[in-house]
Amino acid sequence: MQNSWSQHLRQLLGALTGCLILGFMIGYPLQVLSVGLIAYLAWTMVQSRKMYQWLINPQTTSNPPQSVGLWGDLFDNLHKLQLKNRKTEEKLLTQINRVRESTNAMRDGVIMTDSQGTIEWWNGAAERLLGFRLKTDLGQYIQNLIRSPDFKRYFESRNYDEPLELNSPARPHIRLQLQISLFGDNDRMIVAKDVTRLYQLEQMRRDFVSNVSHEMRTPLTVISGYLETLEDNAEDLPPKWRRAIHTMSTQSSRMEALITDLILLSKIEIGEQAYDDHLNDVTKILEKIVHDAQVLSGDQEHTIQLEINDHRWLRGDEGQLRSAFSNLIFNAVKYTPAQGKITITWAADSTGAHLSVKDNGIGIDPIHIPRLTERFYRADPSRHLDTGGTGLGLAIVKHVLLNHDGKLDIRSRMGEGSEFICHFPTNRLISREAEAMTTSNNDTAISDRIGAVHNPDASDESPDRAEPRG
Ligand code: ADP
Repeated sequence: MQNSWSQHLRQLLGALTGCLILGFMIGYPLQVLSVGLIAYLAWTMVQSRKMYQWLINPQTTSNPPQSVGLWGDLFDNLHKLQLKNRKTEEKLLTQINRVRESTNAMRDGVIMTDSQGTIEWWNGAAERLLGFRLKTDLGQYIQNLIRSPDFKRYFESRNYDEPLELNSPARPHIRLQLQISLFGDNDRMIVAKDVTRLYQLEQMRRDFVSNVSHEMRTPLTVISGYLETLEDNAEDLPPKWRRAIHTMSTQSSRMEALITDLILLSKIEIGEQAYDDHLNDVTKILEKIVHDAQVLSGDQEHTIQLEINDHRWLRGDEGQLRSAFSNLIFNAVKYTPAQGKITITWAADSTGAHLSVKDNGIGIDPIHIPRLTERFYRADPSRHLDTGGTGLGLAIVKHVLLNHDGKLDIRSRMGEGSEFICHFPTNRLISREAEAMTTSNNDTAISDRIGAVHNPDASDESPDRAEPRG
């Protein structure tokens, strides 16, 4: 190209010099030079018109216009470049089509959105699972099509470590698990998995446990009642029966505790989406539990210390919160030897509110910590016989925290003690002044809501496991 450019320049200069010589020979050098320049300009205009028409023609890869010199070279090189681009484009298109075909063959729905959340593409499964329609939905904002507050929160959170479960907006009988991945320039890929079958099985399991527990409760209450009466009249019984009656009574109490916890856990699990949202005075809840913990400690004389560093309301279900807190505090008493120290701290910082229950008890081997919140998991199965625990306490705590957007943190060292920390997000804390101000025009509303905190009857309906059990 460089060579042809200098050659073209030489040819141009040669032609112009020729024009000048001819001009001198006939006595009109400037006029002949001007005619030569005008002719060159006209030729250039013709060539650029050819190029323009060639380029705007949709068939740009058709053969380039015929020309000579610099223009000829330009046409040829542009044509080569076009052919190369066309090849790369075709290759990329084939690849994109292959990806689309393979994602179309997937059973899971795949949806692509840009950084603004505008839908750019989806596969066949997404159409089936979410009911998207090409004509109306392409280019729509995803939140206009999946109109769920949970999805809005999840989509905007940008924290996609955990998937989100919800019913399909267009086909409510389908249960979906959505997992978002960020890629490119904040674009998002949403994978929607049909988990209806699993969800139904899980629901059947919950219903089964809940029904069995309810069915067992009535006969057990009758048995316990008779055993209690027999124990009350132990002196009338032959001595060999007394021990048997006492053991039966202890075991039936344990079974009652287990059934109460199972019913409570299924209630809490069902309430994962919907539960009472009251403003709770955490200080009052904790003071009551600490009092019960002292009773549970009895002659073991634990030192139970309560520190309250924040006095705002905590938004949530009072019964559930009370169950979670009491489980942690009673566990601290159960797993700390006599005269041990238990410190309960309620505090808040920029990351949220935190309840810490710390003891200097027997501690837990770190290998057990990840599994402690599983139902019936015990760090040391031989130990729970002494404590009378049901093995469901920490599972209850975990579900209560899930319902309150919270998280449980467990730190422990064998022989040194344990610390269980419940973290709640900042948006669950409401200052008393702010709440009073926003509702000053609606006195009834606040008295109702605060009444729910102070009125012991209000929690009667709520699941509770606040009674200390030895
Ligand atoms: P349990 O009814 O057996 O106490 P939980 O679910 O409340 O069931 O606790 C699960 C297990 O976690 C317990 O069996 C115990 O091994 C361990 N654990 C819980 N809290 C403590 C604690 N404060 N100190 C030591 N171990 C604990």
